[in-house]
Amino acid sequence: MSNTLIEVQNLKKYFKTNHGMLHAVDDVSFTIEQGQTLGVVGESGCGKSTLGRVIIKLLEATEGKVLFHGEDITARPSSLDDRRRMQMIFQDPFSSLNPRMSVSQIIAEPLQIHHVCKSKEDLDKRIRDLMDTVGLAERFTNAYPHELDGGRRQRIGIARALALDPEFIVCDEPVSALDVSIQAQILNLMQDLQEERKFTYMFITHDMSVVKHISNSIIVMYLGNMVEKSDADELFEHTLHPYSKALLSAIPIPELGAKKERILIKGEITSPINPPDECRFYKRCNYACDRCKALPELKEIAPDHFVACHLVGEI
Ligand code: SF4
Repeated sequence: MSNTLIEVQNLKKYFKTNHGMLHAVDDVSFTIEQGQTLGVVGESGCGKSTLGRVIIKLLEATEGKVLFHGEDITARPSSLDDRRRMQMIFQDPFSSLNPRMSVSQIIAEPLQIHHVCKSKEDLDKRIRDLMDTVGLAERFTNAYPHELDGGRRQRIGIARALALDPEFIVCDEPVSALDVSIQAQILNLMQDLQEERKFTYMFITHDMSVVKHISNSIIVMYLGNMVEKSDADELFEHTLHPYSKALLSAIPIPELGAKKERILIKGEITSPINPPDECRFYKRCNYACDRCKALPELKEIAPDHFVACHLVGEI
């Protein structure tokens, strides 16, 4: 029996602008298995956050399908049930939390909207349990977001996302705004919760070292296209796309005195508005040649390892 929770088929999301259509997500396909984490990595503006928002129906797809438990959810309006089963943790907990609401009010809101609790006592107990789950001390129950540090604010965001017992959580750069020591605490918390409750995550980040730490499989995105997709270990051991190689070269080596050559990405970024039918990395790639003036297809180079580059295997 298949354990696929999410199946994305040829998904596109375009935005109309005064200068033409902005291709934020362009023909992206992948699956996420139940209880696993798919890391989605790429620079800011590559379409990874838009992709997450389309999958959980915060944005409408332009074309393509998202299947949840095998059911096409793109074809129908978003329901309360969709919102219960699919949640999001946002990058900046400060701007995603209502500054006029206390911790308990923020966590209570989704429970009240979905009429989850039968009584005030039931609601209070549920809030206490959620705070305990994410490691927030009871003394913060009546605190406001501005009174807490970044790590505690992100714990509120996680508690709120967990309140309705979702199956699938899109984590949109959940640790990028935090100090490195706090990042590790939040990542460990998310991994413990996944192990305990079998959550399925789509983890969006620009940071390759974070994605390595948390993902079972990874997709690398560049200007709306998926350029590489593979099991996480395979991607780190056999990185094939020039853009993925450049991202990986930016990970610092922890050993004292160890050196690694950093691949700098230079050159002008192709406009995502009506982009030409050439490789979208063409203007910044050190290996670009005439063949790259045609858009490369994503091809399976090794079992479950897909790459979109004309020169894969030659460079
Ligand atoms: Fe570089 Fe060409 Fe490969 Fe694109 S297709 S990544 S330009 S070598």
